[in-house]
Amino acid sequence: MRTRIIRHEYFRDVRTDGLSIGARLTFVGIWCMADLRGVFRPYAADVAANVYPNDMATTVLEIEGFLTELRKADFIRSFTERGVNWGYIVDWLDWHAIGIQEVISGSSRPTPPGWIEPTNWARWIEKNERRGGQNEWRQLRLLVLRRDNYTCTYCGSQREPLHCDHIIPVARNGITELSNLTTACAACNISKGAKLVSEWRSHG
Ligand SMILES: [Zn+2]
Repeated sequence: MRTRIIRHEYFRDVRTDGLSIGARLTFVGIWCMADLRGVFRPYAADVAANVYPNDMATTVLEIEGFLTELRKADFIRSFTERGVNWGYIVDWLDWHAIGIQEVISGSSRPTPPGWIEPTNWARWIEKNERRGGQNEWRQLRLLVLRRDNYTCTYCGSQREPLHCDHIIPVARNGITELSNLTTACAACNISKGAKLVSEWRSHG
């Protein structure tokens, strides 16, 4: 379970107008169960244990009803990955702002169908920051540079300015997580561009 922020707009959002009170509460409860891409275990028993742990009056059957309501209104959808059922929140990033810690931690859950990774999480976070946060991409970049000992991992150069490169480029659906970020000197970064490392090496 994660801490989530409910903006006051949630209660005015016309999309929730048709939902029962139980479905509205279940929906925000699911936010806390979801990962950074809005993926959660879609079972009523899981929701009961996480969202209504002390509520003996709310039965799994009722919760199943709330989930069905949310599914019908297209707030949540289901998908199967390697034989495992998952749920995901539709338009997740419109509902909740993801913080840098979650991007850094990443997630082992599958990516929902049709998911568009923010062109780059950094840019997305920056966009959100204009509403008053701090520059989290700068923090992420600093973490990567520090981890790599301020050395280009492609050629060993320590020449400034050092860039934070997506190993699998954003254009190829590379994600903005520590595992896909590396320190690159400006020359390597510009020459690599939107190529994979293997393509870049073979074409010089
Ligand atoms: Zn280099």
